[in-house]
Amino acid sequence: MQCPNCGRFNYDYPKNHECPPMWQVGIYKDELEPTYGDDLLEAAERYVEDYHWSSAEWDRETTVYGIDADGQLVQILVTMEAVPTYSAEIKHA
Ligand SMILES: [Zn+2]
Repeated sequence: MQCPNCGRFNYDYPKNHECPPMWQVGIYKDELEPTYGDDLLEAAERYVEDYHWSSAEWDRETTVYGIDADGQLVQILVTMEAVPTYSAEIKHA
């Protein structure tokens, strides 16, 4: 089952599940959004992953803003890598 809050999969959800903490992440420093992540960097990755699909103009790497554990605004470089997918089917002559 997938947690409706943080989006993580857990086979016996909601048992043994605790949502990770929220971090403030955004493309613009004055438009940060709460994003789940074990740490700020994971939250930044998830933020870009979610945002990327609706934003085709994004390049292979992008910089986002986030608030770190000390409350400081930091810039985070997030690099994207396209993963090849394979599919097979029987060819009929
Ligand atoms: Zn959760």
